[in-house]
Amino acid sequence: ATPTALMVGTGRGAQLGILIKGPEVLETTRGVDTIVLDKTGTVTTGRMTLLAVHTTATATEDEVLRLAGALEHASEHPIAQAVATGAVERTGGSLPVPEDFANVPGLGVQGVVEGHAVLVGREKLLREWSMELPADLARARRDAEAAGRTAIAVAWDGEARAVLEVADAVKGTSPEAVRRLRALGLTPILLTGDNEAVARNVAAEVGIDEVIAEVMPEDKVDVVRKLQAEGRSVAMVGDGVNDAAALAQADLGLAMGTGTDAAIEAGDLTLVRGDLNAAADAIRLSRRTLATIR
Ligand code: ADP
Ligand code: MG
Repeated sequence: ATPTALMVGTGRGAQLGILIKGPEVLETTRGVDTIVLDKTGTVTTGRMTLLAVHTTATATEDEVLRLAGALEHASEHPIAQAVATGAVERTGGSLPVPEDFANVPGLGVQGVVEGHAVLVGREKLLREWSMELPADLARARRDAEAAGRTAIAVAWDGEARAVLEVADAVKGTSPEAVRRLRALGLTPILLTGDNEAVARNVAAEVGIDEVIAEVMPEDKVDVVRKLQAEGRSVAMVGDGVNDAAALAQADLGLAMGTGTDAAIEAGDLTLVRGDLNAAADAIRLSRRTLATIR
């Protein structure tokens, strides 16, 4: 009877848009008491838009967009796509091809464009190269973050030159999903590499109290381990390459079907539509399935 009930549960999952790796996954789901939610692409749409460009006297908006856009064009990060698309739209021209390019996970991108050594990303990336934002750009950054936007710094040839504002909308389904997860007795935690102010804004919008921000990609797995060491049974929902290790470490890993292959491979479950409500469906389903067995 047990395997049959689990098979039925698995089949019902497929109808709800939940792909379950194996029937045993439903058993793990039962004990979960904490759910860690990645921000970008999981709670939010991950479709970012370039909203504003703040420059200094040492650069024009056109130069900033050409150099930053060229580098970001080579990256697949949602922020990078927003910057590259915005740069093409605002300059009305084509972007140069970088002579050199590297992703710096969790921080941004760096490379060489038209002979300039260019950095685009968090202020932390600039600090690694002993640069910091001048007062006016630092203010633009603070204002953007207070408004719930992500501020991206642009520097070249040893000098910080601009701050770009990008924003990403919360998925319409996320607040309801968080309510349902709470009703199932789970404590939600928002986890992100983005800054604290942006994370707090998103958390408030969807009804999450606990935020763990500015976490480097390789440290997300440690956040899960630490919660487990406190005796919690942890579910993790994520979409990115940077979430894969944490999804594998979690007692239950839920991957967004709209996310990367790395996340889907690491997860125990795939939420096909990329809707967080399916996480609540999955947990409810497993509890019901297991109740049927008993
Ligand atoms: P999340 O955990 O929310 O999915 P990431 O770990 O991918 O976010 O990135 C953390 C932060 O690093 C971003 O919020 C951004 O500030 C910066 N960043 C990462 N990649 C890029 C990029 N290609 N361009 C600009 N900024 C980036
Ligand atoms: Mg993500």
